[in-house]
Amino acid sequence: MPKIQPLSPAVIAKIAAGQVVDRPVSVVKELVENSLDAAAHNIRIKLEDGGKTTITVIDDGCGITADELVVATQSHTTSKIETVADLDAINSLGFRGEALWSIGQVAQLTVQSKTTRDQKGSSITIDNGEVTVQKPVGMSVGTVVIVENLFEKIPARKKFLKSAKVELQLILQNISELAFAHPQVGFQLFNNQQLIIDVLPHATMEDRVASLLTQQLHELFLPINIEVSEYSVVGFLGTPQAATTVTQQQLLIVNNRPVVHQKIAKLIKRAFKTLLPPSINPPFILYLTIKPEMIDINVHPQKKEVRFTEEEILLNVLKALIQQTLEKANLLFSFNAADSLTLNDSKMDEGTAQLLRDATKIWNVKKHFEDEPILQINTLYLVVTTKEGFLLVDQHAAHERILYEQFLSTFLEKKLSQQNIRQQLEVSLPLLEAELLEENKHIFEGVGFAFKRNSPQTFTFFTVPTLLQTRKIEEYLLEVLRDIIDQVEVAELDLQSHRTIAYLACRNAIKAGEVLTQTERKNIVEELFKTNSKYTCPHGRPVVIEVTKNDLEKLFYRIPAFRNEK
Ligand code: ADP
Ligand code: MG
Repeated sequence: MPKIQPLSPAVIAKIAAGQVVDRPVSVVKELVENSLDAAAHNIRIKLEDGGKTTITVIDDGCGITADELVVATQSHTTSKIETVADLDAINSLGFRGEALWSIGQVAQLTVQSKTTRDQKGSSITIDNGEVTVQKPVGMSVGTVVIVENLFEKIPARKKFLKSAKVELQLILQNISELAFAHPQVGFQLFNNQQLIIDVLPHATMEDRVASLLTQQLHELFLPINIEVSEYSVVGFLGTPQAATTVTQQQLLIVNNRPVVHQKIAKLIKRAFKTLLPPSINPPFILYLTIKPEMIDINVHPQKKEVRFTEEEILLNVLKALIQQTLEKANLLFSFNAADSLTLNDSKMDEGTAQLLRDATKIWNVKKHFEDEPILQINTLYLVVTTKEGFLLVDQHAAHERILYEQFLSTFLEKKLSQQNIRQQLEVSLPLLEAELLEENKHIFEGVGFAFKRNSPQTFTFFTVPTLLQTRKIEEYLLEVLRDIIDQVEVAELDLQSHRTIAYLACRNAIKAGEVLTQTERKNIVEELFKTNSKYTCPHGRPVVIEVTKNDLEKLFYRIPAFRNEK
């Protein structure tokens, strides 16, 4: 074993710097946060090769005077807090006093700055820890920070950098988050002279969301807004149709700071319950404003995570808020908005955007059924005519939703409409399935089963739910229990019940390929529109898709742009 000895100050410095700065995006983040703290109105970011070669951040903020410039680039120097008590009420983005110093340790850093009090600006350059140049420069009020050749002298770190494209992607994500968080500030981002992000200052939150998301995506967001004494929550919640497998579109902004909070993301996902399949995540942009003393942002070296005091209450308020928003909303999937849900697709012209807006208008469920026969196509989809166009209904998914809600209300209201089986029914199951049945006994009992276990693998059933009359019980139970085995891990009992009931419904529902009579078709559609959540099946797939006259006109080029004659 080598001898234990103290690290040299130079090594300590590089290690410490590496905790703050690990790739171009962390440099950009720190510099832009400094500009925001300096009350800049406009921030311009210029990158070469995704920031791997050069990062320049230019702001019109308050600037730094010549003598303070030297101090600012030293370790643990900040103008943002003075005492330990200040740590409890941080309103600024920086406060650790490490960013400029850290960047100076691992790159060539030049800071040029001028305040309103100065005649001339001043400049300092630090090359991997050594101050090389200090001189006056001509410039307007504000600060320019240039970072060149990040990690050039630290190959061990440099080799962990990804391609310029990947590093750029990370920076774009970070800058759009900061732009969401600070609608009052203008942002411009260039990579190799190409302008990529360009948002004006003095925007409202709403403008900002509309300009950074696509028009289609914006249409699929539900506004959220509440204020209680301690905090306010405003923002937008994506509908199930806006949901994707990625989590990049989940943005939580706490007191102007984009942060990550796993519990909140999970809670929002759970509030969607059966509106979304397990692998799909709802997008959201939530602005939470809270007294600074109720949060601790000091937990993460890059300040990406926060902790809340009274977290429990906050989470409950959020949960209620999101559930309410979803319950009030019309979540019908629309034919038109189904494709091209990408970020920053600002190429759409106003005519197309208007077309999309019209097509995705709120559809009022109650009034519009036409009294026309319901078509069944591919022995799977029902075609229902409405005044506005037509609805496509997936017969299996619709029936599943209907049964799910019936099972659920039996389970929740404990009003068992069960039917006794005349003779007792013996059921034998494989060991794993038998264990699961026993483990989830209360859920099965809740929906109308009554049974006892005789041996590890055999059960006697006394009752089964009326809804199941037509199914062979043993086969049915096997299917449902296998669904439970295959499911992704479930954290809380509540969700487990919901999932189990969803499987019970699914395995009992009319299948694709079953021919339905006109009456059966009508029943399904009518029952479906009585359910609380007619938009998706219990696994979160869509049940109904609306095709409006507008969609049809567009498909057949009957829109003004293409029509020569009236
Ligand atoms: P922190 O932001 O945690 O205070 P930094 O190392 O990022 O630490 O910056 C040190 C200090 O330099 C800041 O406290 C601030 O006073 C000053 N500073 C840095 N960047 C700017 C800027 N763009 N405009 C004005 N002042 C700045
Ligand atoms: Mg800072």
